[in-house]
Amino acid sequence: MADATGLRVETRLAVLGRPTGPGQPLNVPIVPASNFRAAPGGTAGREYSRDDGTPGWEALEELVGDLEGGSAVCFSSGMAAIAAVLELLPVGARVVVPRDSYTGLRALLADGAAAGGRWAVTTVDVTDAGALAAVADADLVWLETPSNPLLDVVDVAAVAAAAGALVAVDNTFATPLLQNPLALGADFAVHSATKFIGGHSDLLLGVVVCRRPEDRARLVRRREVAGATPGALEAFLALRGARTLAVRLRQAQESAGELARRLAAHPAVGRVRYPGLPGDPHAALAARQMRGPGAVLAFEVADAATADAVCAGVRVIASATSVGGVESTIERRAKLPGQEHVPAGLVRLSVGCEHVEDLWADLAAALDAGA
Ligand SMILES: *Cc1c(COP(=O)(O)O)cnc(C)c1O
Repeated sequence: MADATGLRVETRLAVLGRPTGPGQPLNVPIVPASNFRAAPGGTAGREYSRDDGTPGWEALEELVGDLEGGSAVCFSSGMAAIAAVLELLPVGARVVVPRDSYTGLRALLADGAAAGGRWAVTTVDVTDAGALAAVADADLVWLETPSNPLLDVVDVAAVAAAAGALVAVDNTFATPLLQNPLALGADFAVHSATKFIGGHSDLLLGVVVCRRPEDRARLVRRREVAGATPGALEAFLALRGARTLAVRLRQAQESAGELARRLAAHPAVGRVRYPGLPGDPHAALAARQMRGPGAVLAFEVADAATADAVCAGVRVIASATSVGGVESTIERRAKLPGQEHVPAGLVRLSVGCEHVEDLWADLAAALDAGA
């Protein structure tokens, strides 16, 4: 492992997770192996990749763990990472979730309830100090900040201080560059690396970063027995994508801020949700807790039909689900099941690396045609 002491995050993205010995390749090669030759007479060493990991996973875990300040375990997807954390809890454990969160988490918890109380779930407005009292007897508080798709921002340090429970934070939208939940008092930082970390919409992968090494061991055990292992190619691509995270995010975030300001001034647009927008209810907290507001925003138009027309009207921006790629994507989220709390005319925009003027021209044309 390279010594990254004192290096800045952009540099750590470039140097960590690489072989360091003479004659070694700069990038950990893709090792498409399930099994490895056994050590003579013993069980030491890598034998089977579902149990013992692969060089590619380890390189990615070294990098993401370093960025988040904990020990990382990678999984086959963001949902597999989320499920692995929840599966650490005993049957019937009390889980608190915020009013807005990724639709897959809500589906997983609903299935758990339908299966006979796998978890006892309470939905709480975690921005409300009074409601946080409900947190006191929970086993786990799940936070997602900024949230998908409403861009709610939660005070992680305040929740962690108030909760006598484990705290897990889905840090997908912020990325390890803009926010570090473990430093704010959380026990787990969870990523869908499918999004910004991978950054190219060409893989599925998830990562959990733990404050305590013993939690990492339990998650590795979970990965071993449940088998949600990342593919060798996916781990390679995620690490390769992560190398450029800082420059991609800087560009995308700058454009997101500009687009948010222009959208807020557009006559066809109602509320714009973006924690970097002055006047956003979460702006002050985001400025305190995050190193930048990120590259996802949401805005409201008159109704579902208008939102659908805007999504159908763009030419440069891709009308597609998901976020965090180099290409901008736009989607009306309320069309998805489990998103009844999302305004019907809300459009989520994930800003990519295109020129901001091309993005604005595209959006403005779609808004003018749809209005
Ligand atoms: C996409 C997403 C997930 C799920 O990740 P997958 O890699 O698709 O399984 C979890 N949380 C958030 C915030 C997401 O946007």
